[in-house]
Amino acid sequence: MVLRDGSRLSYPINGNHFYDFFIGHELNPRFNNFDLKYFCELRPGLIGWVVINLAMLMKETELRGSPSLAMILVNVFQLLYVVDALWNEEAVLTTMDIVQDGFGFMLAFGDLTWVPFTYSLQAHFLVRHPQELTMFSAFGIISLNVLGYLIFRCANSEKNLFRRDPTHPNIAGLETIPTATGKRLLVSGWWGFVRHPNYLGDLIMALAWSLPCGFSHVLPYFYVIYFAVLLVHREARDEHQCLKKYGLAWQQYCQRVPYRIIPYLY
Ligand code: NDP
Repeated sequence: MVLRDGSRLSYPINGNHFYDFFIGHELNPRFNNFDLKYFCELRPGLIGWVVINLAMLMKETELRGSPSLAMILVNVFQLLYVVDALWNEEAVLTTMDIVQDGFGFMLAFGDLTWVPFTYSLQAHFLVRHPQELTMFSAFGIISLNVLGYLIFRCANSEKNLFRRDPTHPNIAGLETIPTATGKRLLVSGWWGFVRHPNYLGDLIMALAWSLPCGFSHVLPYFYVIYFAVLLVHREARDEHQCLKKYGLAWQQYCQRVPYRIIPYLY
C-alpha cells in the first residue's frame, strides 16, 4: 500500500519455498477426474514394490533352484499388505496424506521411489544372504504378522466405518465423546485401547517382515526402524492437528486413553 509519506514498502509475506516444494503447495492436483495424489498413493509404488519382490524371488530361484521359506514369507506378507491397501482403496481418502499434506516432493518421491525401492529391501537382502528358517520360527513369524494385520485392519475399518456411518450396527455400541465440531471421537473399541491402534498393528507387521532375514545384519531392519520414526513423527503431527480441531474434547480423549501407540510404554 502507498504509505502516508508516499512510499511503498515490500514485505516478505508467509511462504517458504523449500517447505512448499517439500510438502507441496497444491493439496490435490487434478486433471479433470484424474487425481494425481490419489493415483500415486496407491498404484505405481505399491504395485512396483510387489513386482520388485517377485523379481527377487525369481532371482533366488534362478540362483538356488527354488525360493526359500524366508523369501516366500516376505513376499506373501507384503503382497497381503498391498492387496489389502488396494482392496480397501477408499480408506486412503480419510488419511492425512489425502486430507492434509500437499502433493509435493515428500509424497511424490515417497510414493513413486521410496516405497518400491526401500520397502523391498528384505527380499533384496535374501537374494544375497540366504537364511535357514525352521518351521517353528516360521510359525512364530506368521502368527506375529497375523496379529499385526488383525489389529491394523480392525482399527482402520472401525474408524472408517464410524466416520462414514456412525449409526452402523457394527459400531453403534461403542462409547464416543462429542466435540464442538459436531463430529464424535471413539473412546472404546480399538480407539480406546491406544490413540493410534492402526500404527501399532502396522509396526508389528513391519517387525514380522524383517524377522525372516535373521539377525546377522541391520539392513533388513531398516524398514522397522525407519517406520517407527515415521509413525512417531506422524502421530505427533496428527495429535497437534486434532488438538487444534477438537480442543477440550481431544484433551478429554487423551485423559481417557493415555497411551499413543504402545500400551503402557508410549
Ligand atoms: P489415521 O488413519 O490414524 O487417521 C488419523 C485421523 O483419525 C485423525 O486426524 C482423526 O481425524 C481421526 N481420529 C483419531 N482418533 C480418533 C478417534 N478416537 N475416533 C475417531 N476418529 C479419530 O492416520 P494416517 O493417515 O496417518 O494412517 C492411515 C493408515 O496408513 C495407518 O494404518 C498407518 O499405519 C498407515 N500408513 C502406512 C504407511 C506406510 O508407509 N506403510 C505410511 C503412513 C501411514 P478426523 O477426526 O478428522 O476424522
